Amino acid sequence: MPAPARLAGEAPIGVLALQGDFREHADVLRALGAEVVLVRRPEELALVGGLVIPGGESSVMDKLARMFGLFEPLSDAVAAGLPVYGTCAGLIMLADTVLDGITGQQSIGGLDIVVRRNAFGSQAASFETELDVSGLAGGPMHAAFIRAPVVETVGPAATALARLADGRCVAVEQGSLLGTSFHPEITGDYRFHEYFLRRVAAAAFRR
Ligand code: GLN
Repeated sequence: MPAPARLAGEAPIGVLALQGDFREHADVLRALGAEVVLVRRPEELALVGGLVIPGGESSVMDKLARMFGLFEPLSDAVAAGLPVYGTCAGLIMLADTVLDGITGQQSIGGLDIVVRRNAFGSQAASFETELDVSGLAGGPMHAAFIRAPVVETVGPAATALARLADGRCVAVEQGSLLGTSFHPEITGDYRFHEYFLRRVAAAAFRR
């Protein structure tokens, strides 16, 4: 199989770099051969053929996106079909509905899901587990959850890709959007990033 970066073609992959663990995502994408652009401004967003929104703190990311004039361009890009992969806080940013957000918290939306922030409470705020992910060959994925959200409702337009043993959904896709409650960028298993790069290539998104 050709390397994902070859599949991804010419367009670089953006990583939203306002806040959170954007460096880890950039490292993974580069290790997979992609050219990476750190996105902090609309001009940078305009260069990319796909975008990763990292983990971090969604309420802060939302505020910074608005402050940096990126919120509308991000919404427009999602609406135009830009492939976007959100992890953890990034998943929250892509959810149409966010529960337990701070007052005034907004999300870009695009995924027909209801997400609850910090869904595991203080007892199990962070944990790791094995997950079967539909569509990912190679066996279960070791997944790290850090003050993670869960997808409480998967709307009709979205598809659940992975669930915890108790049935709660922690990975979804819908059209060009992909989201996980967990952090594949820190566990050394890059199948989700490879999957995303193949989707970017398939979408052959061109501005
Ligand atoms: N709890 C964070 C939020 O609400 C997400 C945590 C993470 O991205 N690891 O944005």
